[in-house]
Amino acid sequence: MIIGVDDTDSIDGMCTTYLAANLFRRFRAGGYPKIVRLNPNIPYKTRGNGAVSFEAEGGEDIEDVVIDYVKKNAHLAAEGTNPGVVFVDDCANIDILNEFYKRAVSEIVTIEDAKAAAKKAKAQTHGFKNGRGIIGALAAAGAALDDRTYELIAYRKPENYGKPRWVDEESVIQMDKKTNTFNNFDYETNRVLIMPRGDDPILCGIRGQTPLDVESAWKMLKTEPVEFVQIFETNQGTDAHLRDKRIADLKPYDCARIKAKVSSKPRTIAGGHVFFGISDGTKMIECAAYEPTGSFRDRARALIIGDEVTISGCIGKYTGTLNLEKFEVLSLEKQYEEIRPVCCGRNAKSEGKDKGFQCKTCGRRFPESAVVFRQVERGIKIGSYEVTAGARRHLSKPLNR
Ligand SMILES: [Zn+2]
Repeated sequence: MIIGVDDTDSIDGMCTTYLAANLFRRFRAGGYPKIVRLNPNIPYKTRGNGAVSFEAEGGEDIEDVVIDYVKKNAHLAAEGTNPGVVFVDDCANIDILNEFYKRAVSEIVTIEDAKAAAKKAKAQTHGFKNGRGIIGALAAAGAALDDRTYELIAYRKPENYGKPRWVDEESVIQMDKKTNTFNNFDYETNRVLIMPRGDDPILCGIRGQTPLDVESAWKMLKTEPVEFVQIFETNQGTDAHLRDKRIADLKPYDCARIKAKVSSKPRTIAGGHVFFGISDGTKMIECAAYEPTGSFRDRARALIIGDEVTISGCIGKYTGTLNLEKFEVLSLEKQYEEIRPVCCGRNAKSEGKDKGFQCKTCGRRFPESAVVFRQVERGIKIGSYEVTAGARRHLSKPLNR
């Protein structure tokens, strides 16, 4: 039987991964439990929008034990915490649930959609309060991950909850450099990325390619003592949320990969956010690289009209713009600089559009055709560019993975 759980935490603590890891250990379940991240754009998401599932031998009272455990441990009193638990029998139709997962990771789905899919697949759902958590629980239970990564999560000793976390920064940098793991450290902002900020039970999480990678990385860290560690299989760092789409087909909250041409010149607005338009022949859309994306914005600013790109990102909650996660430059338009005629040791001044030029010293006139255009080197090369590590989505596949 597969058990899916979501939305048991609140901003004051708890963590669905911790709750599920405890159940997983209690049932001595096999394999690895899964953390499944869903559409990072959904406005009512729980922290990080991750749900958890695992497989256990179906005993006679397993459902009761799980439901009881969630009732006791979920932060049910917190506003916005709406747990969901799902049980999927071996005879259930996993394909239907995997289809549901694929929608939930990339689009917007409703509680009704989840209930309909569960019914069709013969999965049991238990929603608490408004039952929103069954969306993630069902998606996590149904996710068949073609591409996957692993995360080792170290849980704090309960007596340390709420106290500052201690993980030696230098050991994180060493670990980052020597292991096949990712999202450990942001070298642009000098920030350790493996520690969450809230009061939850997680000390740190290490993401990597294989269980062995994350385990050996954990052994390199110097940290406070922990309660236990658990390795999860996950869809993090896989781009599972991105679908190849045409601009005209995009809907609010969609996460997409779009092949297009830059159609308007990048511009920087107050706050340092960069915007530019792209068009794929079906429609035009505005792309945004916000300030926290770091030096990635310089790459966006270096684009010019006509550049061919593949853009990855999600449609923003309120704006309808495509928030960039990365882009690949497929071809670069030639860029020219205009060189005006020179006279008396300096450039002649323009007399207005199409009116030619005049030397301000001797008065000599030059026709418009006296201008020469010289090709200049572009400030960007063919290749892929991504936001700084600290601004990366859980689901985004890092370029170095
Ligand atoms: Zn002159």
